[in-house]
Amino acid sequence: MQRMKEIVDLLNKYNYEYYTLDNPSVSDAEYDRLMQELIVLEKKYPNDVLPDSPTQKIGGKIIDEFDKVVHNVGMFSLGNVFNEEELIEFDNKIRKVINNVEYVAELKIDGMGVSLEYKNGLLFRAATRGDGTVGEDITHNVKTIKSIPIKLNEPVDIVIRGEIFMSKKSFETLNNDRKEKDLPLFQNPRNAAAGSVRQLDSSVTASRNLDAFLYHYPLTPFKTHYESLEYMKELGLKVNPNIRLCKDINEVIEYIKKWTELRDTLPYEIDGVVIKVNDVTKYDEIGYTAKVPKWATAYKFPAQLVMTKLKDIIFTVGRTGMITPNAVLEPIKIMGSTVSRATLHNEDFILNKDIKINDYVYIKKAGDVIPEVVSVELKRREDVKPFVMIENCPICGEKLINPKGFVDYFCPNDNCPARNIEKLIHFVSRDAMNIEGLGERIIEDFYNYGYIKDFSDIYKLKDKKEELVELEGFGLKSVNNILDNIELSKSNSMERLLFALGINGIGAKKAKIISKQFPSLELLENSSFDELNNIKDIGPILSKNIIDYFSDDDNIRELNELKKCGVNFEYRGKKILIDEEYTNKRFVITGSFDFITRKEIKDFIEDKGGFISESVSKNTDIVIVGKDPGKKYDDALKLNIEIWDDKILKEKLGLM
Ligand code: NAD
Repeated sequence: MQRMKEIVDLLNKYNYEYYTLDNPSVSDAEYDRLMQELIVLEKKYPNDVLPDSPTQKIGGKIIDEFDKVVHNVGMFSLGNVFNEEELIEFDNKIRKVINNVEYVAELKIDGMGVSLEYKNGLLFRAATRGDGTVGEDITHNVKTIKSIPIKLNEPVDIVIRGEIFMSKKSFETLNNDRKEKDLPLFQNPRNAAAGSVRQLDSSVTASRNLDAFLYHYPLTPFKTHYESLEYMKELGLKVNPNIRLCKDINEVIEYIKKWTELRDTLPYEIDGVVIKVNDVTKYDEIGYTAKVPKWATAYKFPAQLVMTKLKDIIFTVGRTGMITPNAVLEPIKIMGSTVSRATLHNEDFILNKDIKINDYVYIKKAGDVIPEVVSVELKRREDVKPFVMIENCPICGEKLINPKGFVDYFCPNDNCPARNIEKLIHFVSRDAMNIEGLGERIIEDFYNYGYIKDFSDIYKLKDKKEELVELEGFGLKSVNNILDNIELSKSNSMERLLFALGINGIGAKKAKIISKQFPSLELLENSSFDELNNIKDIGPILSKNIIDYFSDDDNIRELNELKKCGVNFEYRGKKILIDEEYTNKRFVITGSFDFITRKEIKDFIEDKGGFISESVSKNTDIVIVGKDPGKKYDDALKLNIEIWDDKILKEKLGLM
């Protein structure tokens, strides 16, 4: 009973994070594992099933911001099978009702279920699954999805179900963009799609590049599911091209094998294969449980989690001196690559997960994200050694510090070789000086051979050309290539150099903001704390870091060296002419405009030193309101914020 209660509470918490917040804290595999454990327990003790057990209900809470939609036919979840044996068991049950059963095998698109209601061939309403009976009205957002037709090829009244998803590529672009803006990242394309659909402002949805496949016609007049799919195609609905009609379960198994191999080649994520009985007329006879139809099931791919031994914990030192513990793993293959290291983030992470040396641990790798230790297999724990945080820098031996408010430890030695190498690696990196050919290994070698210590030494490498050519692994061609790229980087615009210098807290984006306002390094050097602090998005801490940087004699000496080497200190982008009306003001845009795109408005404001934010708060200065404005307009009225309608906007743009 206690374990059942424990799991129910956990799963309900995970459901809330997953369905309502679109931000899960555990992997689907972990969720599915707990769910299976609960199902086994509930089968064993059917009288003790808890009323709030997630086995009894679908999905998550409906949030109040959206209108509610009562589904004309319930929107089901699907039962799961996790291996061939369970699939055969599913087939056996079906064959008790139908003799020669045909199945339709479909890719299980990892997105968000949607119900589309067309009236007279026109998209009338779109809703989420919600709790299966009541969903949320997301019509305004679904209308922005290009692959969902607003008008069908025939003027029919019809309800169709399908999946909205985000392609792997759009997901990557979105997260890269969010990273740049310092916004929290989406965990996977499924959460990103769900988060994008459940937006109050449909321009956000429109910008997210969503896609959709339709796969179900609940009240179909056709005898088979396959015919319904063909009809849906005729209506102009997008049906997945990889759907296959299978004459028996063996063909389904073949299909599953094929897509287990090929899933990575698809441009979108799938998490399994859905198997549906083709003969729709038998559905009622086969029946339903409270939550799922019995005539279909989902085969879930095995989790992309692997278990391996954690042989040791070693420490690396970052550019800022931050110490990161890393797991040294028994090498193991995951998602096509061999992994032998995984990050353990910091001491707290290790203690919270109770990770010990010699433990067997589960490793997760998602896209190009660094592999991470997810959990420990406690059942296999033996001969383990406790983790002990180091007290001294593993490279220079300096005593580590743990500044107040930080979970991390730092090496405070500015001359620590590990830190110096990391600083140089940062200096040449893509968003900084972008010196191609000077990779991490080469920087490390050049540092160890004594060729480079300070940034300016990179620009003096050309004097050592003859020696470099003689080094093992280098030749005239590669050295020339590196030296050419170094020369090229001299003419970079200032914001790259400012980012490359590695001043604490100055990322690529902040470097650009600062460079627009102080368009040369000399001007920045002579700026005051107040001037810096007055720039929106540059707070007092950053301002102080900048002042401190320019007050350090070593830094000034190094900047002079860079200058002598011919490195450009000027900002080459558009400079800002201070304009009281815009500079440092915070703008929000809502609604649409027929004479200008939102991107053009954004560029206009940013060129004048203003900022665009996504939501209205008391810090907003001006809200620009177009046609069909969203909630942001109401918020602006409530907070008494200055509003520019399209007439005022035209005046400001000089169009009137
Ligand atoms: P599900 O995702 O396992 O399967 C049902 C859904 O699959 C359908 O509602 C439909 O939207 C979708 N689907 C995709 N392709 C389909 C196709 N071709 N035909 C029919 N349906 C198709 O079920 P669910 O109830 O949406 O979610 C439960 C799952 O979500 C869990 O098994 C777990 O993996 C995950 N989950 C994870 C967490 C977490 O915290 N990580 C929390 C809750 C749920």
